[in-house]
Order: sequence, then structure tokens, then C-alpha cells
Amino acid sequence: MQFAFLGSGSRGNALLVEHNQTCLMLDNGFSTRETVTRLGFLQQAPDAIDAILVTHEHSDHIAGVGVYARRYQVPVWMTPGTYEAARHRLGDIPTLNFFDPGNSFSIQNLDITPIPLRHDARQPCQFVIGDGQYRFAVLTDTGSSSAEIESLISGCDALALECNHDQKMLQNSDYPKSLKQRVAGQMGHLDNDSAADILRSIDCSRLQYFVAAHLSEKNNMPTLVRDTLSSATGWAEETIQIASQDRVSPWRTLSRVF
Ligand SMILES: [Zn+2]
Ligand SMILES: [Zn+2]
Repeated sequence: MQFAFLGSGSRGNALLVEHNQTCLMLDNGFSTRETVTRLGFLQQAPDAIDAILVTHEHSDHIAGVGVYARRYQVPVWMTPGTYEAARHRLGDIPTLNFFDPGNSFSIQNLDITPIPLRHDARQPCQFVIGDGQYRFAVLTDTGSSSAEIESLISGCDALALECNHDQKMLQNSDYPKSLKQRVAGQMGHLDNDSAADILRSIDCSRLQYFVAAHLSEKNNMPTLVRDTLSSATGWAEETIQIASQDRVSPWRTLSRVF
């Protein structure tokens, strides 16, 4: 299994996960033209995406889903709640599949375990994606963690974890008070310290890749993320990768033989 970020952050998210000719796109918050440009950096043909898996209805995750699905005839998967909240913005989806946040399911040869969570959306989920050998957990757009969430992501082989903001930068920002409360609240986004707490709680012994994701461009900095996480875990700072809003990441391949 391999994965690559097309981009991550409040101006658009999309992530590819590929295994044995099955290529999933997790969310698409970019225009189709932008998506195709970004896929080009990965030598990925736009019509070779097998499914789009949607986490929730916020625009930075779905803005590009409808047009892309129609143009390239890609099946789309989401919860019924996400569809209800997003249907007017999505338009017609040629092949629409619903999943239940409480049950695992498969898309071709990838196994998908939804992670239900708290975020200001109708029925949001993040995912653990498995290929039978390795598990890749993605956890962004969540206001808080829980024992259930941590048990689902514990022991994974790769982890993309939200490090949305630094609490002090957010409080000192020019955001209106209501927006500060929404971002920092239980239904908002994970800050650097909360991400560090999660890493201290879960089993990281199999981790081959760690990616800090969905960083705020106004209220966070990669150096703060690396400082906070590295002091919490003892990891060398250079092992902490940061998903960029503007740059496509290289493919990361899970390959360690135990
Ligand atoms: Zn988001
Ligand atoms: Zn969101």
C-alpha cells in the first residue's frame, strides 16, 4: 500500500491511497483542473481513480467531488448524513454508495474501517485503510479524541494526524471570538498538544510514517508542530512529515518486513 497527499488544509484536501491497482481518493476539495494538475506530479491518470471516499461535507473536503465523479465516472462513498448535508452542492453522483460509520467495508482490495468522531458536521468519519498487511489511519477534522478513536488507530503502520493549530496562536489571532471557540471546541479541530496527547496514548511501535495534517496557515507553523510532537514522543524532528496545502507529497510506500 502507498499513499500521497495532493494537499491538506482549510483551502482543500485530497489524499490518494493505492494498493495493487486499486486507487482511492480520500476527499476532494480542489477544482478538477487543480486535481488533475496535482495528480500529474504523481504520474497518476485522472481516470484511474477507483473510488472517492468522503469524510464529511465541509467545502475543503467536497468542493471537487461532484464534478470529478461525473467527469471520470468515479463511484463515491459517504455516510447518509454527509449526503443529506452535501447533496445540493454535490449535484448528481453517477454511482453513490452509503456506508454505516459503525461497520467496516471494502472497496476492491482495500478494507475501510470508519472512525466516527465529533466535528461540526452531520455524520463525519475518518478512516483506517487496510490492505491485509498494513493499516494506514487518517484522523483530521476532529474536535476531540476518545478511547474508541485511539483503539481504532493504535498499532497502525502509518498515521496522518491533524495538527490544526497552536492554542496560543489561535487565541492571539484576529479571528472573531465565535470562530476561535468553534475551532478550539469539542466539535472543532485538534491542536498540537491534543495531537501529542494522542501519540502518547496509542501504540506507535509499528509506525513507518507519521504525517501531521490539516495545519492552519494562520494559527500554526511546521516548526511548532515538530517541536511539540518531538518533545512528546522523543522522535527526531525530521521523522515528522508535514502535509502541505500547496505541494503534492511524494508517494510513501509501506514496506517494512517484520
Ligand atoms: Zn477540513
Ligand atoms: Zn471539517
